Amino acid sequence: MKNKYVYVLVLLVCIAFAGLFLTGIYMAGQKKGSTKKELTVVTSFYPMYVAADNIIGDSKGVVLQNLSEPQTGCLHDYQLTPEDMKLLSEADVFIVNGGGIETFLTDVAKAYPDLVIMNASENIHLLEDNAHVWMDPELYAGQVKKIASDMKQADPERGALYEQNAAAYCEKIGDLQQEFEELKARGSGSSLVIFHEAYAYTAKALGMNVAGSMDLDEERQISAGEVAEILSVIDSQNVKFVFAERLYGESMGNTVEAESKARVVYLDPLTRGEYRADGYLKGMQKNLELIKEAFSDYEP
Ligand SMILES: [Zn+2]
Repeated sequence: MKNKYVYVLVLLVCIAFAGLFLTGIYMAGQKKGSTKKELTVVTSFYPMYVAADNIIGDSKGVVLQNLSEPQTGCLHDYQLTPEDMKLLSEADVFIVNGGGIETFLTDVAKAYPDLVIMNASENIHLLEDNAHVWMDPELYAGQVKKIASDMKQADPERGALYEQNAAAYCEKIGDLQQEFEELKARGSGSSLVIFHEAYAYTAKALGMNVAGSMDLDEERQISAGEVAEILSVIDSQNVKFVFAERLYGESMGNTVEAESKARVVYLDPLTRGEYRADGYLKGMQKNLELIKEAFSDYEP
């Protein structure tokens, strides 16, 4: 008799679960039917990807993809691949840094007239011939706000979420900027040489003067004349620091440290990295610490 009750109870529980399960499937189906339109967002390269990743956050129905491989770096002279063209043909939105970094942009606009292209640097005053604005946290926050506002326009249904996410991200960038401000008190007015165009923005954020620069953002031969010229600038302008990228600048960096009193600080230009939302913040924090260390060792 007791067993019979247990049997009935188990049966009832089973029926109840089956009911819940079926209702769940039904509801999911209903929800899917009323779900907001899917949005495919493509970014051009690393700093834009990280910015978009933070703005999109966990918004449902938004697919984010990067055009280039995470290790491609800056897109100067980048040639679009057939995979890139396929990706762009499926995209609703294409987020670019602008300012000439994406040299293929005119071709993209021509090939996909319906694609919404968002230029993150549109409202930013660029340094001459240089659009690596993300290396100045204040300007990067400007890019984030611009992307969020363009995203809201393109996808009003999720617009409030984009703005909320952007505001939270900009607050974190603001903390970083605050630390730059504190370092500025030390670095302001001092001269430096840069081995990567992107560091012109970092120098600007620190109030430093760029006395000379060498473009070492790719593998190339450096002539003896160039070496002599940069050493002469370091000597004549009392340059204390060189900002370089380790990947392509180390050999020249070694020469500078052997031949002059300038200190070489190897910074991350953040043109490549891991696909993670805190990639920029972590990278810049590391840069800050390296600069801080170099400044504190420096006797004015
Ligand atoms: Zn570049």
